[in-house]
Amino acid sequence: SLLIDLAAASRMIRDAQRILFFMHVQPDGDSIGSTLGMIRALRQMGKEAVMVGVDPIPPMYHFLPGWDSYRVEWQDVDGEWDLSCFLDCGDLERVGDALPAVQRGRRTLNVDHHATNTAFAEFNYLDFSAAAVGELAYRILREIGAPIDPETALCLYTSLVTDTGGFRYDSTGPSTHRVAADLIELGARPYDVAQAIFETESLPRLALLARALQTLRLDGGGRVAWMVITREMLREAGAQEHDAEGVVNYARSVSGVEVGILFKETPDGRVRVSLRSRKTADVGAVAKGFGGGGHARAAGCTLYTGLDEAVGQVLAAVKAVL
Ligand code: 5GP
Ligand code: MN
Ligand code: MN
Repeated sequence: SLLIDLAAASRMIRDAQRILFFMHVQPDGDSIGSTLGMIRALRQMGKEAVMVGVDPIPPMYHFLPGWDSYRVEWQDVDGEWDLSCFLDCGDLERVGDALPAVQRGRRTLNVDHHATNTAFAEFNYLDFSAAAVGELAYRILREIGAPIDPETALCLYTSLVTDTGGFRYDSTGPSTHRVAADLIELGARPYDVAQAIFETESLPRLALLARALQTLRLDGGGRVAWMVITREMLREAGAQEHDAEGVVNYARSVSGVEVGILFKETPDGRVRVSLRSRKTADVGAVAKGFGGGGHARAAGCTLYTGLDEAVGQVLAAVKAVL
């Protein structure tokens, strides 16, 4: 496994004609936006590029061009591909069941910004200072002189907006805003993205949020707040997995809280844990201790235990790093 820079990563993309782009499981705005933007621009250069992922694109991202037309199911990937490219994947497990399709690519390229990235590909372009992979995708497209039309700009801009929570998270810096400004000049409309991402809620999502808020508890002398989403709550609310995205932020938002945690039962009886910290606690390290990963301020992991057991284990680990 080799660490490479922007120029080398860009050459790999430029020299490849057929490229598979892998999203991570339960894809978020960064995974989706950077993948769609990259594919759209590369197709306009005459390349063949498709997106591979195991989970559906949540409805809130259906305003992004290409969401329903670039996709190939991993079982249907065949033939010879020049490159398997991973965007926003901190480790290889993040591609989930799509793993067999990775082998269809002659080479592998990992483009990511997670501090916990395991450099799992043959070639790895990693920049932990980037707030979103959309920023890295933008740099690559610029480097190879790819066309960036308003729709591509919209996809990349959405990646920045979602991974920074609307330019609010700790990861937001001057380069985030410079790239955002470039993308707005190229035709992305901030108002449209804000409407779709932050100002549109489905009723099931709000019903789920109402139930989750009732489980909110404090621990660690008021420095930790945690919430639970059970299968029953999802069913009662008529909600789906993706409706839980962002709910964890309500736990962190409690005054005086440093770490917010959401425990969610998965359909197959595991516990999906989302962690958010405010200022000091490295929740990426905590998540890594449970086989997951992420950033210092936002991370996740999956525990193969019951709900109560998961709550006990994770709360203990979080309190140990406070
Ligand atoms: P979320 O809580 O929204 O699912 O994830 C928060 C952050 O941690 C995201 O940046 C995500 O990419 C990362 N993350 C979440 N779960 C995992 C995991 O199981 N493994 C790794 N490596 N990263 C994760
Ligand atoms: Mn992501
Ligand atoms: Mn990301």
